[in-house]
Amino acid sequence: MRILYVEDEQLLADAVTHLLKKADINVDWVADGEEGLRLAKKPIYDAIVLDIMLPKMSGLEILEIIRKQGIKTPVIMLSALSEVEDKVKGLEIGADDYLAKPFKTKELIARLQALTRRPALCDTKTLQFADLTLDLENRTVNGLPLTEKEASILEMLMKAGDKTVQKDYILAHVWGADMVAEDNYVEVYMSYLRKKLKETGSKVEIKTVRGLGYKLMIK
Ligand code: CA
Repeated sequence: MRILYVEDEQLLADAVTHLLKKADINVDWVADGEEGLRLAKKPIYDAIVLDIMLPKMSGLEILEIIRKQGIKTPVIMLSALSEVEDKVKGLEIGADDYLAKPFKTKELIARLQALTRRPALCDTKTLQFADLTLDLENRTVNGLPLTEKEASILEMLMKAGDKTVQKDYILAHVWGADMVAEDNYVEVYMSYLRKKLKETGSKVEIKTVRGLGYKLMIK
């Protein structure tokens, strides 16, 4: 798991970051709102832990902007106990959870784990295509671990069978519709996935259908 942690109180941030890392959670910590917003737009985080009172831009502003852009990364807001209005506002504009300061890092870890656990989209916990088995619960393909986004993309391709999945569809579902024009995330993730499929020794490969999208093919 990789999280973005936006917090301007350095001592608190140092302590929390240290404990999260011990729990095998990768943390990118930034101390101001603008930097937080810049990173929050990147499709690399499993969750964002967002303080409300920040220099340059508040946590609420960051949350509002990323949600308007269709970014669905789970967000846990942090704020002092007294700021009840902020809590309500945060949840209204799309925070997934809220933690009052001071909090125990253990509690934060539990909330992060709950938020990033993959929701059960359907009853089947595994998908099969030729010699590939995607385990959605443990997020592995033929036993090889995948990132959340890699697993989402592979899930779409496997569900489509031998049909092409449009690139825009993948972008919209994995990153949110508004990022379509500006980035080549899909290509980048396809190359990660191709490497992983190769690593499993599978006969299945991902074929690029020019101008359209991607599909699975048996070599
Ligand atoms: Ca603060």
